Amino acid sequence: MSFAKSLRCRECHREYPLAAIHVCEFCFGPLEAAYDYDAIRRNTTRESIASGPASLWRYKNLLPCDAGAAVDIGAGFTPLIRAKNLGKALGLNDLYIKNDTVNPTWSFKDRVVAVASTRARELGYEKLACASTGNLANSVSAHAAAAGMDAVVFIPHDLEAGKVLGSSIYGPTLVKVRGNYDAVNRLCAELAGSYNWAFVNVNVRPYYSEGSKTLGFEVAEQLGWRAPDHCVVPIASGSLFVKIRKGFDELAKIGLIDPPRTRMSGAQATGCSPVAVAWEEGSMNFRPQRPNTIARSLAIGNPADGYYSLVQLRDTNGACGNVSDEEIVAGMTLLAETEGIFGETAAGVTVASLKQLAERGRIGPDELTVAFITGAGFKTAEAVAEALKPPLEVDASMESFEQAYEALQKAEVPA
Ligand SMILES: *Cc1c(COP(=O)(O)O)cnc(C)c1O
Ligand SMILES: [Zn+2]
Repeated sequence: MSFAKSLRCRECHREYPLAAIHVCEFCFGPLEAAYDYDAIRRNTTRESIASGPASLWRYKNLLPCDAGAAVDIGAGFTPLIRAKNLGKALGLNDLYIKNDTVNPTWSFKDRVVAVASTRARELGYEKLACASTGNLANSVSAHAAAAGMDAVVFIPHDLEAGKVLGSSIYGPTLVKVRGNYDAVNRLCAELAGSYNWAFVNVNVRPYYSEGSKTLGFEVAEQLGWRAPDHCVVPIASGSLFVKIRKGFDELAKIGLIDPPRTRMSGAQATGCSPVAVAWEEGSMNFRPQRPNTIARSLAIGNPADGYYSLVQLRDTNGACGNVSDEEIVAGMTLLAETEGIFGETAAGVTVASLKQLAERGRIGPDELTVAFITGAGFKTAEAVAEALKPPLEVDASMESFEQAYEALQKAEVPA
């Protein structure tokens, strides 16, 4: 059982049953899960959460599905790391990394798919589907395999090899669409109208998006039940960005933390930055873009939650990073070399944005800041391969090693 009681339109607040629907019939606003917070408050304490499983299911009372029948491959409850070295490099004295690269399919998408697939199975669906920039395809394929459901996943035709393989291994029907993500998404919206499938980010999106709240819940719990001062979050559709903050707000609503004053800042790549550009222009209306960036997982030119992301930037006094492909690669290597964490291109966007916002004084040096690292680096190996120094190659002899090693040290001595 779940404490969700309806879906509610974000715009006109009309209520709907908890079905596989995502837009309001009256005003076309997006639908969002609504809960009985009084009942949640009566049934939820810090202790009851802490004694739950080491996965996102410890927050089951705040999720819109029956955790008793969860599709559970172990998503969530990832490490929150005090990032002293990176903080020092950027002049931030109280910096943390939320390392979501260590989820079962190596990205935060396991959180949203855990919730969406559980609800889809509950609603009687036999097929899981999605429109994906790569990571979602991996996660839907894996969860469908574990749930004993079929998966049909749609991706742009030119994704990174690691993301294609990372879906294929689970045995889905993998469909490469000749077009970019926005074309894939349009196709899936059309298919969702005629096939009785659960498209996790289309018709069951209200359940999917709630999974992202668990990043907010975890960070607050891991900080000793308090919300951070500032979060830096990569923006694709904007759902993750908006829902992390909703996670803090809900914990306050049920009395587990003080009301949050968390500033929410976004991170986008210049090659796909509709939210960052609108924010820079002080506009609440973004213009869709045609993406061209190595940050493929964030390459959504027409973001579904773009408007709500701009509202949140304004309301929380946040800022939005806007970083080039070169800065993204530098961000990936900086994170790896300072903290020992190999994140994908989206992580490079987050770290480069963190740097940009710190340099511009948009993040205070003493703010407790959390940077969200949402996907693992092996998925986008192509992006950094050429920027890394090649290994030494030697014969299996002392002499050969010493020769090569000395030559290397000479070469590395600054002129
Ligand atoms: C999907 C994704 C995001 C952001 O997703 P939203 O659509 O904004 O919720 C961030 N990082 C990675 C690695 C992703 O795959
Ligand atoms: Zn409405």
